[in-house]
Amino acid sequence: MVSRVIPVEVFDLVIFGGTGDLARRKILPGLYRRYLAGQMPEGARIIGCARAELDDAGFRAIAGQAVTEFVDERKRDPVVLGRFLESLHYVPIDATGDGGWNRLRGLVRKDVVTAFYFSVAPGLFGALAERLHKHGIATAESRIVVEKPFGRDLATARELNAVLASHFAERQIYRIDHYLGKETVQNLMAVRFANLLFEPLWNHQYVDHVQITVAETVGVGGRGAYYDKSGAMRDMVQNHMMQLLCLIAMEPPYRFDPDAVRDEKLKVIKALRPVPPENIVRGQYRGKPRNGGPAEPAYSVDAENPDSLTESYIALKVEVANWRWMGTPFYLRTGKKLRARTSEIAIVFKEPPHSIFGDGQGWRENVLAIRLQPNEGMNLSVMIKEPGPGGMRLTEVPLDMSFAEALGPEGADIPDAYERLIMDVIRGNQTLFMRGDEVEAAWAWADPIISGWESRGDKPKGYDPGSSGPEDALMLLHRDGRRWREIRE
Ligand code: NAD
Repeated sequence: MVSRVIPVEVFDLVIFGGTGDLARRKILPGLYRRYLAGQMPEGARIIGCARAELDDAGFRAIAGQAVTEFVDERKRDPVVLGRFLESLHYVPIDATGDGGWNRLRGLVRKDVVTAFYFSVAPGLFGALAERLHKHGIATAESRIVVEKPFGRDLATARELNAVLASHFAERQIYRIDHYLGKETVQNLMAVRFANLLFEPLWNHQYVDHVQITVAETVGVGGRGAYYDKSGAMRDMVQNHMMQLLCLIAMEPPYRFDPDAVRDEKLKVIKALRPVPPENIVRGQYRGKPRNGGPAEPAYSVDAENPDSLTESYIALKVEVANWRWMGTPFYLRTGKKLRARTSEIAIVFKEPPHSIFGDGQGWRENVLAIRLQPNEGMNLSVMIKEPGPGGMRLTEVPLDMSFAEALGPEGADIPDAYERLIMDVIRGNQTLFMRGDEVEAAWAWADPIISGWESRGDKPKGYDPGSSGPEDALMLLHRDGRRWREIRE
């Protein structure tokens, strides 16, 4: 199966924070891959802006290095890379100062698509938005792209929205949640809304429960002091996992149109019940003594905060209070230093109403598992008869669809979430970006959960690195007669 690459319109993309970690690891390598794929048109330009006093050559050297480091070797073509780098320019700019803006205005064309990527700390968004207008660089058609974190609670998210809204209309603002750029996440919508097969079963009558797991093997070392101010709830649940939950739980939008999709997602967030303390398990990873291998520091050491109460793990039982989902819980869990690096959504279906084969025949529930990483794909487990003369014993077989395998050589070429999302910005398609009211609604749900454990002074439970998280998280499902799926790659 050959995927089509449709070039986007000519554009000027300005990356504020163009020398930063995100630009080097994701944005610049992603743009190179789109250039290599033929999606970036002749004449498109990428303009880096940051505080460092560099010239075009200096920025091209940084970008060339980033491509060498972060792009798969098979995709590194020195001739193509040379041509790509020629489309890069650089203007030194301090977001809080007034130098450099005139030069930027001279570079940014008025007759092409213009986008400004704010890959800097959110504290600078306001200064950037204001100066882009003051210096006559942004137009009513320009787009801005903003990164997470979008606030740390409802009040700060509202402030950020207000700052952006004073200079840009909502249709110009692209709030990135890179989970939405993943191929599988979009496939979730295709599977639900382009097939008749699943939708009739997609409700409390047939779905027993849903599990969403985002497990990481790494700790917070290196950025521990920063992470300690947020924790798993703010860092993963309020944004990425909430978006996944919305895509599973939402009603069919009347059209695959940005506002139609986002209206449906918003309704889900508004239907979420407050989460009582007994439906929340927070954890913090312990250290590991040497034991032959290298010793590993505990969370509090990584976070440089011996008294930290921040969670590196959280599991929640979440209820969507509407007709479709009442009685079907969504169990969410995410954590650092767990057994394996994996992200998975599992739709666990109910038992058939009556087993004609009798009990003890090896029956297991049907599960539709959607893997986001490491290998994007879907797997539907179905029951069949165990082969052979042993009578009517049942066994479970997977109907497995790895996208990389199913789509052939092109499938192995699934674009990274960032590159897809940047191309959507240029196309002017906001479907996979969060709207301001969605973000605020998600904080309105998360805030009382967080302030609840803060006011109670709840301490996170310890868990061993390489485990599946705290013991109490097992109980969250056991007491409902369910069990977590194994965390494995
Ligand atoms: P970074 O510290 O590596 O880079 C920051 C960039 O901003 C640098 O280019 C720096 O020169 C520039 N900068 C700083 N102050 C400036 C100023 N006053 N004026 C102009 N430029 C200035 O940060 P990063 O990791 O690249 O993160 C950038 C943004 O992306 C942050 O909002 C972060 O939360 C978000 N983000 C980063 C990642 C990641 O993987 N790095 C992931 C998700 C979101």
